[in-house]
Amino acid sequence: MITVEEAEKIILEQVGDYGAEIVPFELALGRVLAEDIKADRDLPPFNRVTMDGIAISYDAIENGFSTFRIKATQAAGDHPVDIDEHNECVEIMTGAVLPASSDTVIRYEDLEMRAGLATLVTREIKRGQNIHYKGNDKKQGDIVAGVGELVTPAIIGLVASVGESELRVKKLPRVAIISSGDELVEVTETPSANQIRRSNGYTVKSVLKQHGLEADTLHIPDEPEEIKKRLSFCLENYDVLLLSGGVSMGKFDHIPKALEELKVNVLFHKVQQRPGKPFWFGRHDDGKLVFAFPGNPVATFMCLHRYFLPWLNASLGLETKSQYAVLNNRYGFHLPLKCFLQVKLHYNEYCQLMATPVEGNGSGDFANLADTEAFMELPLERNEFKKGEVFKVWRF
Ligand code: AMP
Ligand code: MG
Repeated sequence: MITVEEAEKIILEQVGDYGAEIVPFELALGRVLAEDIKADRDLPPFNRVTMDGIAISYDAIENGFSTFRIKATQAAGDHPVDIDEHNECVEIMTGAVLPASSDTVIRYEDLEMRAGLATLVTREIKRGQNIHYKGNDKKQGDIVAGVGELVTPAIIGLVASVGESELRVKKLPRVAIISSGDELVEVTETPSANQIRRSNGYTVKSVLKQHGLEADTLHIPDEPEEIKKRLSFCLENYDVLLLSGGVSMGKFDHIPKALEELKVNVLFHKVQQRPGKPFWFGRHDDGKLVFAFPGNPVATFMCLHRYFLPWLNASLGLETKSQYAVLNNRYGFHLPLKCFLQVKLHYNEYCQLMATPVEGNGSGDFANLADTEAFMELPLERNEFKKGEVFKVWRF
């Protein structure tokens, strides 16, 4: 049986590259850029007024002027209006172009406006104040967002401002989520006394959705020929198969054999961990990958976060940043397996991320998942973990 670290290494050696595609920029949230986005003109594109008030020439202040005749009013979007005399100003709004004859903007708060005149009520005026200068943020041709960046709401806005209505983003793998087990019925069905409703597929699908990945789901029975037929179809039509169930030692756990018969070569089966020990991982000759998680909902959930999401990130060129928290209670775990402990998280008054264990009833207890926020990965070599020790966490 291999360790968690060995399993992780084997999986990360299998990162894929699924190419790129063009999508409307509004649908690109959460995707990864496959092109550099450049400013089509300077940002800002003109000397932009940043306060509502008046525009003047600072020379007027130096020459002792403190009252200005309002020559015109200039809104954002208007053509700039020039002044001809030192005793003149233009009443001007935020977002307007600073007229060439002005170099300073005085906000309403520093003025008294009456009978077509603006009079200063402050001495604190600096040449060039309240102006956002042309090209100060980016010059035309500068990269505003680059290859490999995750598209965030801020990037969507930036992309909109430079007129890119379509974006080239990294393509996501086509993923099939396959649940297996004869005891499982559809959500809308009423299970008999011996059955349960299937939930894993929905959990996995919604986790992937949070990562911008729309996957298809299907269910297969515990019947070898049917399993082979359905998996064969999936291997032809998808890049990655995420299975849950049917990989343990049970009499009806036919998945590993079926996969091997379909030329999916096992890269490992069983990992020294709890939950999720029966985890099976393999690669088809043509490069398709199969993550076959044990069916216990907590095991599926843990393996998805600990192994699949880092693989997905790596395949898209994104880093999976390690996160750590402080164990808030002592905890003992006495099996030769790496324990992934379910914890609730909070920040204490010293801004430390504290992890409080919430013990469920093993990997079948997924009601507990809803009460927790992360798995804490405890070191394999030890059995006792003290309050105050720091360990890695996997948030979900
Ligand atoms: P297995 O890995 O197939 O032995 O399944 C382990 C446990 O997880 C069994 O109690 C199954 O009934 C349960 N299980 C398997 N698949 C699902 C699923 N899709 N949704 C909910 N429970 C499941
Ligand atoms: Mg099963």
